[in-house]
Amino acid sequence: EQDVSDYRRTLAIRVSGIDVPKPIKLFQDCGFEAPLMSAIAKQGYEKPTPIQCQALPIVLSGRDIIGIAKTGSGKTAAFVLPMIVHIMDQPELGKEEGPIGVICAPTRELAHQIYLEAKKFSKPYNIKVSAVYGGASKHEQFKELKAGCEIVVATPGRLIDLLKMKALRMVRATYLVLDEADRMFDLGFEPQVRSIVGQIRPDRQTLLFSATMPYKVERLAREILTDPIRVTVGEVG
Ligand code: ADP
Ligand code: MG
Repeated sequence: EQDVSDYRRTLAIRVSGIDVPKPIKLFQDCGFEAPLMSAIAKQGYEKPTPIQCQALPIVLSGRDIIGIAKTGSGKTAAFVLPMIVHIMDQPELGKEEGPIGVICAPTRELAHQIYLEAKKFSKPYNIKVSAVYGGASKHEQFKELKAGCEIVVATPGRLIDLLKMKALRMVRATYLVLDEADRMFDLGFEPQVRSIVGQIRPDRQTLLFSATMPYKVERLAREILTDPIRVTVGEVG
């Protein structure tokens, strides 16, 4: 039996910022093309989760976002789906110019999960996804990045190494996601994250997701996001 107060607590949603786009109720409200809608249906996603209802229209409108929600709330699709749209909107420059979407995650397990989700939704398109993280061959990852991609999912340390080795360029990177920012900081990746952000053009769109907002993460968000909208789902932050 579910406690009513518990139920309310799970659904508590707070949104702050200027000119906040209206939340959506259905994936059909997002204006996604048929191939993307099919990919969503194929995943068995019938309707968007609460964080997706709020975040999808915000991110699709090109705004920066701070998304605060606990694990399992569907944050990955909230940044992967708009990333596919963002990439398809870009002029064809060529894979050798480097990724358009850059996603940083704290661990290789998380990076791999995000990679799988990004692959599912990019399947209908000519979008190449690469994942780079520690504990796997740097040489292989170097070769893969050299061959080019539209999306790179990375742990911060390995991405820095590969940037130093000139495995990739950041000239067309315009969509940056910092996922589980609090955990990246807990693991001591703040300098690496800052270095990566510093190598991506300032007119990018930036998305920051975190389960909690400790002072250090708050400070980074203030420095690297432009007029962000903050969405908090549940009793967090
Ligand atoms: P988070 O990043 O917030 O921890 P995930 O993005 O990993 O959450 O999603 C948690 C689970 O929910 C995954 O198994 C994912 O496939 C599933 N999921 C995401 N969005 C939906 C949706 N709209 N409908 C049903 N399941 C979903
Ligand atoms: Mg996640």
